[in-house]
Amino acid sequence: MTIRVTVWNENIHERENGIVAGIYPEGIHGTIAAALNAEGDIEADCATLQEPEHGLSVERLARTDVLFWWGHAAHAEVEDAIAGRVCEAVWSGMGIVFLHSAHFSKPFKRLMGAPCNLSWREAGERERLWVTSLNHPIARGIDRYFELEQEEMYGEPFGVPESLETVFTSWFQGGEVFRSGLTYKRGAGNIFYFRPGHETYPSYHDANVRMVLRNAARWAYNPAARVADPVSAPNVPVERAPETIEHRGPRLHAPGQKGFV
Ligand code: ZN
Repeated sequence: MTIRVTVWNENIHERENGIVAGIYPEGIHGTIAAALNAEGDIEADCATLQEPEHGLSVERLARTDVLFWWGHAAHAEVEDAIAGRVCEAVWSGMGIVFLHSAHFSKPFKRLMGAPCNLSWREAGERERLWVTSLNHPIARGIDRYFELEQEEMYGEPFGVPESLETVFTSWFQGGEVFRSGLTYKRGAGNIFYFRPGHETYPSYHDANVRMVLRNAARWAYNPAARVADPVSAPNVPVERAPETIEHRGPRLHAPGQKGFV
């Protein structure tokens, strides 16, 4: 069994900023895909904003078990229809992993239904990521914590709904803390938010980060068949109720009339 991953990246700073290009000559997406492909059970390739349909056609999403999403400067350039298509794929069972500044991406904000805001500082601080969910599969291989010598600070309060699990909680050198590894379920889809990955630091070359990325792909993968129409809201007429009932009282809808959406 192979988990098919698509790594999506806006692919802006790697082409426009020399520091980022130096750290990620293959693009952030290329480095993440290489990490995912390292152990044979995951098959990752890439899609970028610049491709037709941002590289995320209906067919591409249908054969993607888990989508990774990295974006920062170009959230607004993602077409609403494509963002909606990604959300529907999640509701139907596709796993998704949102990385770092993807907290402000259209799909993440829509799936969370919340502002997703936070405080931040770009000062090359040490980040210590504590494992805050014992034996969680996404933290497999990490003991109590791991550290990144230089990262951007993200601070609480993080404007997201309460997660199913908080897998990692970060401490930063300047004193702030942040829930940096959060799991959610939306429809049939598993969602993981993972904080590290500011583009001017080599975080996706870090062995622990790369291990967490692979763990996250395995965790987010839902082997069940996709839900065919995850947004359908069917009417069940009286004669098809599991128990025998008779219609009573007034009603708004004529028999067979469609519901409002
Ligand atoms: Zn950043």
